[in-house]
Amino acid sequence: CGIVGYAGLSADRGGHDAVDVVMEGLRRLEYRGYDSAGVAVVADGEISSRKKAGKLVNLVEEIAAHPLPASSTAIGHTRWATHGGPTDRNAHPHLGDEGRLALIHNGIIENFSSLRAELREKGHEFLSETDTEVAAVLLGEIFRGAGEGDLTRSMQLTASRLEGAFTLLAVHAEVPGVVVAARRNSPLVVGLGEGENFLGSDVSGFIDYTRRAVELEQDQVVTITPESYSVTDFAGNAAEGREFHVDWDA
Ligand code: GLU
Repeated sequence: CGIVGYAGLSADRGGHDAVDVVMEGLRRLEYRGYDSAGVAVVADGEISSRKKAGKLVNLVEEIAAHPLPASSTAIGHTRWATHGGPTDRNAHPHLGDEGRLALIHNGIIENFSSLRAELREKGHEFLSETDTEVAAVLLGEIFRGAGEGDLTRSMQLTASRLEGAFTLLAVHAEVPGVVVAARRNSPLVVGLGEGENFLGSDVSGFIDYTRRAVELEQDQVVTITPESYSVTDFAGNAAEGREFHVDWDA
């Protein structure tokens, strides 16, 4: 039950390897407890993801056996299963938009079964037993429709349709260098770096890289790029986060 996101400059411009950053963040968040873990990156106009039930070491071995491409945009997740057993298939990320987007989630989406029925009507198939996969598929459906290819707008519209508690992070193959997130009744903090920005369930997700952080309020969407972050409510109105300095010893 931890979440990390990273958007940095490419390695030749001084950015970190995105997989290293999110794996380190997940290690720092291990104390929260989990039963599965996974990561996704955007590289060369594609999403690549790896996920495994069990300890983080299982994911580390999976990545060693099937390396991910070098990337400067990634999301990482540790899961505490609520809907669907702790299997590789139910581990996050879940994919939407025919594999062109990856999404991770902590929390519970209460209205997932009515949304899943609605999306099945439209011809979408589901590969897992999770509540989370409906958010991934819905985000893809909205990205192709009302969201008009705008990932932030699509996340606002998606979050507006979900009930329950969620921290969601998503990346899209067609929107490189961007991680978008939403939160309701579930924690999310932004970390601010130089030419890189972070998202975490709490500051320990990025404490090795920066001590400048931004607290969000309920029902907000945040978009990070290597050079910027922006916050809105679910209706798309601009909002401000409260910046603070993390001064505890990690
Ligand atoms: N409800 C989601 C699942 O069962 C997310 C659980 C979590 O918070 O890790 O996959």
